[in-house]
Amino acid sequence: MNNKGQSANRRTIDETLQAITTRKTPVPKSGFILLILLYVLATVVLIRVTRMGGEITIAGNVIQLRNLAGVFSSLANLCVILLVVIYRTPGFITGLAILITQFPVVFIDIIRKHNFDAISGFFTNFLTIIVIILIYINYKRASRYQKTVLEQAVTDLLTGLPNRFAGREYFGGLIKANEKFVYVAADISNFKSINDTMGYETGNKVLIEIANRWRNLADSGETGTYNMVGHVGGDEYGFSIQDYESEEDVIRTITRFREVLEQKITIDDCDYYVNACFGYAFFPEDAADLETLVSRASLAMHDAKRRGITSEPIRFTKELIHSEKGLDIERKIREAIEADTVFFHLQPQYDMSHKLRGFEALARMKDADGSFISPADFIPVAEQSGLVDQIDMCVFRKAAKFLEDAEESGNSNFLISVNISVKHLLKNSFIDDIKSILDTYKVNPGRLEIEITESVMIDSVERALERIEEVKKLGLMVAIDDFGTGYSSLSYLNNFPSNLLKIDKSFIDAMDNGESSKKYVASIISIGHILGLEVISEGVEREDQVETLSKIGCDYIQGFVWGRPLPPEDAAKLIV
Ligand code: C2E
Ligand code: MG
Ligand code: MG
Repeated sequence: MNNKGQSANRRTIDETLQAITTRKTPVPKSGFILLILLYVLATVVLIRVTRMGGEITIAGNVIQLRNLAGVFSSLANLCVILLVVIYRTPGFITGLAILITQFPVVFIDIIRKHNFDAISGFFTNFLTIIVIILIYINYKRASRYQKTVLEQAVTDLLTGLPNRFAGREYFGGLIKANEKFVYVAADISNFKSINDTMGYETGNKVLIEIANRWRNLADSGETGTYNMVGHVGGDEYGFSIQDYESEEDVIRTITRFREVLEQKITIDDCDYYVNACFGYAFFPEDAADLETLVSRASLAMHDAKRRGITSEPIRFTKELIHSEKGLDIERKIREAIEADTVFFHLQPQYDMSHKLRGFEALARMKDADGSFISPADFIPVAEQSGLVDQIDMCVFRKAAKFLEDAEESGNSNFLISVNISVKHLLKNSFIDDIKSILDTYKVNPGRLEIEITESVMIDSVERALERIEEVKKLGLMVAIDDFGTGYSSLSYLNNFPSNLLKIDKSFIDAMDNGESSKKYVASIISIGHILGLEVISEGVEREDQVETLSKIGCDYIQGFVWGRPLPPEDAAKLIV
């Protein structure tokens, strides 16, 4: 289990922080050598022009070479200064060494050769040494300050642990290196009550104690894996697990973290016991980038928190996304119902001669950013959370209002179909709900149709049949939706008091596969007709499908080929 060899090469948390803060952009070494070469060249030329004398003519002016000495001397000193500025300590040492070794040469020149011109060189050297010492002292002071600032930027001031930024640097580095590891999200469960009852000061001491325990555990290597702990914020911590061989190693490591956490914490003579919820996710199996990895581990942690599990860590699974997404959608549905922002679109239905039969009202909901949330996402959540009745009724009411307005303006030769969830249908309040709509809006009930999905209805056929009888008594039309997708039973269809059979899109799509699929659709249409029902095909997207359906006796078409779901104001233009 333990991979000591590998662990020995790993750093402690402090060493890792050190590495993050001291990371610098490398300066090319070739520049260092180039500056020294330039220095040597400038000095050689300098010696030659001062010792040999002579003159050159530039633009008609005669210049004594000796007068150019200052230029080369400045160039040489500039090289030394650049060495210190760019290469810091090594540059300073090299520069200082070069300048100091110049002194004996200059002295010899002055004393032995009585070359008093060299005196100026002596002073220039001396001044350059002072300049580079000043530059170096200044640099040292600035870099000490910079280091403190950087350290503060990567450590959490309260606990001294690496903060969110340092964590991102470190874990991001592992991902870049494609090194497998596990990210663990931990949330201290009962921290809020300590904070609330004992005050922030005590709360902070508890956080510091937890950090110390976990830092010591990580640095001791006692878990058998390599761990790096960070304080993500508030009472949330995150740590990595590297050098594991199996998921058991991971669970054993997290268990060690849990055990040291759960030991008594004594602060100012008071004993505290804390525990935490842990969630974890594997890189690269569970996520390919850091953001996703961290959010998936914390999704698992939140699941543990919701279920009150502190005794075992929860691993991220795909199902968690769905349950989390479901909760998010449920919240949005509640908000939309509360604010009455659930609305509807109308999809036209036509007979085979392209004459309008009516519209299906389809519920619509928007997200905060204005994008549509698909009914395929929110209807199942609404069904599970018992909110679907309210969505159905909201659409039903608004659709009835649309019909009332149309009837008032003399355009009432069409139907409006609304979807009703079977759960809603089976409720005792259902018939009253419909009655209240008929009382509120002046509409002809025969212009309203309810659609019931066949697949779910079969579970409680008897009760559903009774309800539908009552709906029919109120004068409404009834359609069987998504026909063919459930356990279609001819015997119940025979007794079913409906008017319309809606063939599901999947059968219409399947007609492309060959003659037998077309024959299948043809036989559904025939059976419908034998039972006295009209038949509509849903999800028709192409003219050739319309042609086939027309040939095999279909009565109506609903599909993108002749009309997509439209906002009511656009649908109204189709009925004038
Ligand atoms: P559905 O009742 O079978 O509605 C037909 C669905 O097929 C609609 O999807 C419609 O936009 C889509 N559709 C129609 N023609 C075509 C086509 O040619 N191609 C394709 N690709 N799709 C087509 P939508 O609006 O996303 O609704 C999905 C389902 O959500 C509905 O299926 C229905 O079961 C449910 N739903 C919608 N509104 C309500 C509601 O108010 N209450 C309840 N309980 N369920 C609803
Ligand atoms: Mg429908
Ligand atoms: Mg359908």
